[in-house]
Amino acid sequence: MFKQYKFQANYDFLTGIFNKRKFEEVSRLLYDQAAHSASSQLALFYLDIDHFKQINDQYGHYEGDQVLKELGARLRLVIRRSDPSARIGGEEFAVLMPNCTHSKGLHLAEEIRQTIDEEPILLTSGDTIPVTVSLGFAHYPTNTENPEALPLIADRLLYEAKTSGRNKVCSTKKKKNEFRRGFILSFR
Ligand code: GH3
Ligand code: MG
Ligand code: MG
Repeated sequence: MFKQYKFQANYDFLTGIFNKRKFEEVSRLLYDQAAHSASSQLALFYLDIDHFKQINDQYGHYEGDQVLKELGARLRLVIRRSDPSARIGGEEFAVLMPNCTHSKGLHLAEEIRQTIDEEPILLTSGDTIPVTVSLGFAHYPTNTENPEALPLIADRLLYEAKTSGRNKVCSTKKKKNEFRRGFILSFR
């Protein structure tokens, strides 16, 4: 019972990756570490399923859950075991990549987008359905001098991906305070 309780406290029961609480705990440590080491790098992306409500409406909540499970599995296939990943909201995921350059992290985010885009998801009914995701990618120190600002930036770029067509990764080379005027590099 204790083991089960410990699992529930840290992990998401559907996908087996961290839950929001644990992810926030791990993030705080990594933001702290990054801020205290001049040479460190840290990447974060947020991933949100496109039109997931439609999937639930059309196929039911149970099949929606299968999509979430499969997404967790594909995420784990692409990222390193040591990179903290989590389901941080209903259909929203996050991955932190310590010691990762801007270009490497961005390519990984793009690889995940492709992995989901290219292979339809099999439901328990036997139907396969196409699923796409949108991602916002943020990098320290490229986008900010304060690692704690990464979630804000990733969120802003995820919003950018959603409003500019979905099924894409949005990132930027600009620092945070330049965003409003800034150009956003979309990567597809
Ligand atoms: P967008 O492309 O803008 O992200 O559209 P969306 O439909 O994905 O976004 P919206 O926020 O409108 O809907 C999210 C849906 O996710 C609504 C909710 O029913 C569903 N959802 C949240 N958590 C779960 C879950 O644990 N299981 C299932 N099956 N559905 C969930
Ligand atoms: Mg969402
Ligand atoms: Mg969504």
